Amino acid sequence: MKKIYTIVALLILINACGIETESKENKDLNKPKNVILLIGDGMGVTQIYAAMSLAQEKLNIERFKIVGFHKTYSASNYVTDSGAGGTALATGIKTKNKHISVDSLGVKLKTILEYAEDNNLATGMVTTSAITHATPASFIAHENSRYNYENIAKDFLDTDIDIFIGGGKDNFEKRKDKLNLLDSLKAKNYTVIDGYENFKPESKGKFAVFTAPKHNPKMSEGRGDMLPVSTEKAIAFLNQNEKGFFLMIEGSQIDWGGHDNDIDYVNSELIDFDKAIAKALDFAQKDGETLVIVTADHETGGLSLVDGDIGGKQIEAKFSTTDHSGVMVPVFAFGPGAECFGGIYQNTDVFHKMISALNLK
Ligand code: MG
Ligand code: ZN
Repeated sequence: MKKIYTIVALLILINACGIETESKENKDLNKPKNVILLIGDGMGVTQIYAAMSLAQEKLNIERFKIVGFHKTYSASNYVTDSGAGGTALATGIKTKNKHISVDSLGVKLKTILEYAEDNNLATGMVTTSAITHATPASFIAHENSRYNYENIAKDFLDTDIDIFIGGGKDNFEKRKDKLNLLDSLKAKNYTVIDGYENFKPESKGKFAVFTAPKHNPKMSEGRGDMLPVSTEKAIAFLNQNEKGFFLMIEGSQIDWGGHDNDIDYVNSELIDFDKAIAKALDFAQKDGETLVIVTADHETGGLSLVDGDIGGKQIEAKFSTTDHSGVMVPVFAFGPGAECFGGIYQNTDVFHKMISALNLK
């Protein structure tokens, strides 16, 4: 006679939002094919409201219906830097300040961009800084110091990112070790292009598009439409991949305006970033299969608005530090899977929610 054994196991389930749960409530939410993650470096709630108060028209960021917050502290500091902040968003692990997608012991952490590549998604990055700067580096490089720019450039060759658009060409060709990484990129079948104007989004292949030898200029010094146009082109290019794409866009210099305690610098960079948000939202609205997430890595400047005039488009802004602050920062989400981004959670959860939305293994 057969004996029937019943094995009872306590299952920890991962729900549709990528959160561990013991309940069986795991309704199948709509899954996106593409994720566009837009990071406003140093963009806290106050920076956004300052721009909303000064702008002549409603900002595109006000088009989002789902809003959350994430906690930004790092493994080493209450106040994170952009290395640890970027690493948390890119890998789901809090690390020490200054680290780039390695953990506190220096062990490499797989990034969402690398997961996306392994799952045959097309991948891309667009930034208004050098492409080797801490935020983009966190998605593609693995270094103990964010300042190892030449090593970070070399790490680009360990990936198959389909397109990157940004400054930092010098880190690839004017190097202390005399290596010419532009040749190395070409050997890996990249087409190297100078200027985002010269990139045609209907092109096939892999593209390194350099927009400056170092960082791109500030908006006030003539950057023009580099960020929104590059965003639009990168989306059109990556959308050729039938399996979907992951794209990271960074408004890098909102942070630099904060460090400079220069509200006009913050505002002009944020308005420009908002135009890139419009490109992502316009695409996602038509496409219907794209999740758009807008967030920051941390707030910069401890910005406060102590007075203002809504009708007169005036604000009185006060900064409390020339560094970052420890306050939580907002997350805005649109598209399939957006419902997972409401609430208050860790910066690392942004990674887990994106991984879960895209079903990346
Ligand atoms: Mg940055
Ligand atoms: Zn900063």
